[in-house]
Formats: sequence, structure tokens, C-alpha cells
Amino acid sequence: MQRGEANQTKLQSLRYPVACPRISRRTQSPVMHRWTGVFVPKGSFLFAAACCTLLACGAPKNGLVSFSGSAMGTVWTVQITDLRRDLSHGALERRIIATLDEVDQAMSTYKEDSEVMKFNRQISTDWFPISPPVAAVLREALVISQLSNGAFDITVSPLVNLWGFGPTGARTQRPPTAEIRSARAQTGYENLEVRLSPPAMRKKVAKLSIDLSAIAKGYAVDRISALLDENGSKNYLVEIGGELRAMGNNPQDEPWRIGVERPDADSPQIEQILPLRNLGMATSGDYRNFFEEDGKRYSHTIDPNTGEPVTHSLASVSVLADSVMRADGLATALLVLGPRAGAELAEREEIAALFIERKADTYKLTMSSTLQQYLGDAD
Ligand code: ADP
Ligand code: MG
Repeated sequence: MQRGEANQTKLQSLRYPVACPRISRRTQSPVMHRWTGVFVPKGSFLFAAACCTLLACGAPKNGLVSFSGSAMGTVWTVQITDLRRDLSHGALERRIIATLDEVDQAMSTYKEDSEVMKFNRQISTDWFPISPPVAAVLREALVISQLSNGAFDITVSPLVNLWGFGPTGARTQRPPTAEIRSARAQTGYENLEVRLSPPAMRKKVAKLSIDLSAIAKGYAVDRISALLDENGSKNYLVEIGGELRAMGNNPQDEPWRIGVERPDADSPQIEQILPLRNLGMATSGDYRNFFEEDGKRYSHTIDPNTGEPVTHSLASVSVLADSVMRADGLATALLVLGPRAGAELAEREEIAALFIERKADTYKLTMSSTLQQYLGDAD
């Protein structure tokens, strides 16, 4: 992780925040709450209506220009405090939307004609031509799979569907063990190959299928950020469904402060505020998208080793990194690995990670050494 200008930032307490949460469209997937200067990922649905007037699309407010909308099964916001005066807001908004559409059209498992879904339907082990973005995301996904020893695995798609967290529809009961076993037999990132030029991917097992949901939003944040960089902006915040990049300062000319939410959808509140400057952050949690049976929680994060949703006490992981795509994938990987193996990987690979564990009546927060160091530098 590069710290950039992070040492100029200050971790500040939350002062009279103006709550402006926003909602996620995809059932219970992560949500980002927007506050004045403090952003709270993974928030509640309750205050959305009251808040959406605060930052009307494209309306400048103290030099702030903001856009928002829905894409990739969730909601997004872009806030820029230093947009060039000669730039048309409408034109920029159209470019943002076109970029999001492009990523969605390539990577969605909810669009039958996306590149990913076409590849999933192909029962062949031949090379399958893909766009450079899909190749880039696939390559990163495979790196994270290797790094996490398969905890992160985009070929978990049949298991995601079987457990009711994919496009084939939700469920409220544990699937039969035999079905879990046979779905698991169709997975394995080692059976997937990618090449960059010409961009293509290939399955070594004809029935293999992929799901980029755990990494595509991070990639899209990186793409929108690149667009804003090209336009000369240095102070902005881009956020898609809880994954974000914060550059420069917020509208109060202070470092962006990101509130990490308590992993409890019923009583959302800020558990930790992190200052973020010129850095990305992604959070994965087990508390938005899950079902319960016999008092047991089954969340959308699947352990590829068991073929089942993770069962340990780790409820949420936030990762800070330059690349939001990497942060997104790593947050999922660490959540799968759990409190102990996840913390070990974060130490070994110097990942800036915040772990929130669910204990009887409370929550335990642990920061990796790299995150502690980052916050120390920011002080
Ligand atoms: P969110 O999309 O809510 O931000 P994640 O980034 O953790 O959360 O992505 C979760 C999604 O990733 C799941 O809904 C599923 O589609 C997919 N997924 C589940 N388990 C894994 C895994 N072990 N590796 C890669 N992708 C996974
Ligand atoms: Mg992720």
C-alpha cells in the first residue's frame, strides 16, 4: 500500500454529522451512508428518503458537484469538490454512467448477454475472446486466489447460486449436502486461465463458470476514478455499493473520513472512522445478504473449501489499498479466511485491514499492523 499524503490526514471524531445515507438496490447488499465529510459504508435503508434531497444530482453545493444513480445491482455516488469550471456536468455524468454500463455489461451475472454469462454458458475448453477490462479483473482475481490459497475464488458461482445468492433466486433453507458436494466439484480457480493479448479466458473444465461480484465493483470505482483523474480533479470521492476511493479533501477541505459500520443491519451505527486520502477502501460483511435457518446465519460469502457460507465469528473486513479492485477482492478473501488465518495473511502481505468480529453481545475490532501504521502516520 502506498501511503501517499496520508500522513497529513487526521483521524477526527464525528461532529454533528448530517446523516445522508443511501440505499442499495440489490436486496441486502452493502450500503454506503453519506454524511457531511464522513461516509459510512454498509448502512441502513431507513433514512434514505430524507437524505436524497441533500445532494441533488449535479447540483453544486459549496463547490461540490455530485452525481448518483444505480448500477451493478447497487447505488453509486460521485462527489467532486474541484471540478473544472469549463467541464459540462451533464457530459461528465454521461461518461460516468457509460463507464458503469460498460463494466456491468461485461461482468454482470444478472445480464444474460454479458461477457461473463456468455462464457459461463460456453461448454467448451477453447479460448474465449474477452474485453481488456474482463481480462484485467480476471487476472487480479487469480492473483488474489493464489495469495489467499483459494479462499477467494471466482469459480464459486455454482455454490453462490445453490445457496440462493445469485441470479437464479433466493432461498431460505440450507441446500442438501449432496447438491453442495456436486456444485463444489464444478469449482476451482486452477481450472481457469486468462491471457491479456489478445484478451481471452479459457476453462480447463467445460462446466466451469465465474462470478465477479466480489471484485467488479472495486474495479468500477477504479475506472471512474481514472476518468476523474483524466479530467484533472484531485479532490473527490467515488463510491459504488460500499467500495470507494477518496482523493484529496472533502467539501470542508478536510480529509475524507470514512465510517465503518457496525456489522448489524438492525441497528446500524459507526464502529470506526478511518481517514482516507488518495486511497481506496472496500468492505465485505456477512450482515446484509444472508438468510437464517434454525438460528444459524448463512451469508453470501462462500468458503470454497467447504462449499458453504463462512461460519466463523468474523462479521466484517475492510481493506485499504491503492487499487479498489484489489481491496474489494482482498476484503472478501480475508472474510472467507476468518479471524485467525485472515489476520495472518494481512500481516504476511502487509494488507491494511480492519477486522470486526461478532462476540456474544459485542464486537471486537482488530487492525492489522499496516493499518495501525497508516493511522499512526495519519495522526
Ligand atoms: P459485496 O458484493 O456485498 O460488497 P463481496 O465483495 O464480499 O461483497 O462479494 C460477495 C459476492 O461475491 C457474493 O455475493 C458472491 O457472488 C461472490 N462470492 C462469494 N464467495 C466468494 C468467494 N469465496 N470468492 C469470490 N467470490 C465470492
Ligand atoms: Mg469483495
